[in-house]
Amino acid sequence: MRVSTFHGVPESTDGRIEGRASDVAIVGAPLDLGAADRPGARFGPDAIRTAPYLAGEIYHLALETKVFAYTAVVDAGDSDISIADHVQSIDNLRKKLREVVANTGCLVTLGGDNSIVLPALEAVVEQHGPISLVHFDAHTDTWGDDTDRLMHATVIRRAVEQGLIRRGHQIGIRGFGPFGEVLRWGEENGLTVWSMDTIEQLGLDEVVQSILLQLTGPVYLSVDIDVLDPAYAPGTGTPEPGGLTTRELLRAIRTLARNLDVVGFDVVEVSPPYDTSEITAIAANRCVMELLGAKTRRARETTDEVPR
Ligand code: MN
Repeated sequence: MRVSTFHGVPESTDGRIEGRASDVAIVGAPLDLGAADRPGARFGPDAIRTAPYLAGEIYHLALETKVFAYTAVVDAGDSDISIADHVQSIDNLRKKLREVVANTGCLVTLGGDNSIVLPALEAVVEQHGPISLVHFDAHTDTWGDDTDRLMHATVIRRAVEQGLIRRGHQIGIRGFGPFGEVLRWGEENGLTVWSMDTIEQLGLDEVVQSILLQLTGPVYLSVDIDVLDPAYAPGTGTPEPGGLTTRELLRAIRTLARNLDVVGFDVVEVSPPYDTSEITAIAANRCVMELLGAKTRRARETTDEVPR
């Protein structure tokens, strides 16, 4: 059965449900004018929403819980796009996210290119104060720029400059780029890079455990789907060979979200025009499902309520 909201959850444009704040609110950000090269991520939100063949209540095997029990999830729809105007479109998104974040425990944003993460971080920080960031990506997105331009490779630098991030961990970094200055800048500004080379040596479980020991308080979890190897996620704008498997990523998200207070989450850079057999959109959809399952599992342990 095909549905128009994420997994068929109730639609609520302001993030509330039955007059109360939701536990998780999902917003689509169909923008890709922040992409440097291959656009197409504007089609990401709907592809992520409609990828699953599942419907209704479902059970997460590894988390041993119903995914939607104990957790009120709503889909707040998409932000409005201003044609050919990236700055205005980001501003529209900022307004939408600000409204929704005030009415939910966890803001989930579906990209869109990676530049949409800045207004998402701004909204979450406005609500919760400066946060810790766990960022899955092939790229650091901390490129220098003579301008203060917001695009998908500068977004984390902009966020750090704005004081939104207390501490950051970047997982899956690899490939080629102007790494010298960029990595130094990150280190000097509270960002720890876990390169694919390091992950191969330590194993991702070890890396995740190390991060868990270092983080407290509210956490924002950001997933650029290009952290996956292009074999697992061909449908993305800037694929970089040598990445994580889907299995590794889902397990890492599950472990982090199970153990940390995740107040913001995104999946970005899903670009359906380059996808094959919906493989990338389904992986992105499952990233969100891992978050929801972990949230429900956490909620189950802290409430006596009867499951919904
Ligand atoms: Mn990337």
